[in-house]
Amino acid sequence: MTQVVESIFRMYDIRGVVDDVLTEETVELVGKALGSALLATGQDKIVLARDGRLSGPRFRDRMIAGLISTGVNVVDIGQVPTPMAYFAAATLEGVNSCVVITGSHNPSNYNGIKMVVDGITLYGDYIQNLLKRIQDNDFSEGSGSVIEQDIFQAYQSYIVNDIRLAKTLKIVVDGGNGVAGPFGVAVFRAMGCEVIELFCDIDGTFPNHHSDPAKPQNLADLVAAVKEEGADLGIAFDGDGDRCGIVDNSGNSLYADRQLMLYAQDVLSREPGGEIIYDIKCTSLLPKIIEQAGGKATIWKTGHSFMKAKMRETGAVLGGEVSGHIFWKERWFGFDDGIYTGARMCEIVAKSEQTAADLFATLPNGINTPELDMPFAEGEHYQFFNKFKELTQFTEGKVFDLDGLRVDFADGWGLIRPSNTSPIVTLRFEGETQAALDRIKALFREKILAVDSNLKLPF
Ligand SMILES: [Zn+2]
Repeated sequence: MTQVVESIFRMYDIRGVVDDVLTEETVELVGKALGSALLATGQDKIVLARDGRLSGPRFRDRMIAGLISTGVNVVDIGQVPTPMAYFAAATLEGVNSCVVITGSHNPSNYNGIKMVVDGITLYGDYIQNLLKRIQDNDFSEGSGSVIEQDIFQAYQSYIVNDIRLAKTLKIVVDGGNGVAGPFGVAVFRAMGCEVIELFCDIDGTFPNHHSDPAKPQNLADLVAAVKEEGADLGIAFDGDGDRCGIVDNSGNSLYADRQLMLYAQDVLSREPGGEIIYDIKCTSLLPKIIEQAGGKATIWKTGHSFMKAKMRETGAVLGGEVSGHIFWKERWFGFDDGIYTGARMCEIVAKSEQTAADLFATLPNGINTPELDMPFAEGEHYQFFNKFKELTQFTEGKVFDLDGLRVDFADGWGLIRPSNTSPIVTLRFEGETQAALDRIKALFREKILAVDSNLKLPF
């Protein structure tokens, strides 16, 4: 049996520390398994991309070696953001699959692999089946080809043709030294924006800040630059460019669930009655805004793969997560893209008579906690959560239990959920009033301690 480290085959992707658990040999074996799985679906061609990490070029070489050994043909689009690989798979003739070598927003010693086969983002059992193929040495044999193709011009033209700015905006773009910076800057300039660059050179050592715009501390440089430059808007990308953070002209960041309120109102003005999917971590004010705008609001599991699957199943026009993944179906292809999301935000802000700060202030804001983490030893967070779910009854409120447990009350909600990416249980609470928030927190505190009175709670 071939030896690979099983723990790197995760819920949404393959990911691990480079040359430790994620070795060149493993990457080549994943290429063989992926190529074989692709052929089994009747496909014989795949788009390959990589982010700006230092291990990218050698992992690309081994991925190509693995893929072509099965007879699959590779279209290498080079060092580009993850969404540009989705774009290539969605638009190039005769190819409907892609593989991206990316560590997303993780520290520089990590890398990983995200995969789409025949239009489906791989997760869960799909990824476990690749592991099984490797362990069983169950690979197709053949000899595929490799071509290099530049996709950027087509990508940029598509966005520039789609987005019309009612006026010129001055924006600051924080690339976080990830792969999206230079591409985002070029697209926004082609749209007619005046762009000030911050950390837009690609540097796989990430010398400035973590490339995760969902964490407020990573937006501090952007906030300062927006204020200093007197810019209309700030946009920050995560490491592989499938998410973006938004900062208004006063330096306030707009969390993704409140961004979604604006995007929903905009999309529903052209798609009346459209369905919008939001993840369980979102504010309960979001479905209210969607319904007021005439849309159908549907709550769903966290995770970009789950969200994309639900979007396809329902025919939804828009979807989004608190993490910052926004999925556009109206005028786009249904996938998450930080550059395209930033462009849509520019369009909305340019169309408004108000500044971004005044426009964002019209959106309701609940009294809520950030995501609160309760750490466990590896794997034990699932055990704790399962026990909690089994033993706990909520006599009031509406329970959503497909992904963790979210309980919606008349005046707020609470969430408890085991993470699929690290050994933590995440909690989040929101109330219409401080008293409601305090009551909901106290209720969860009591129920958690009833399951394990030794736990140290982060709230
Ligand atoms: Zn990402």
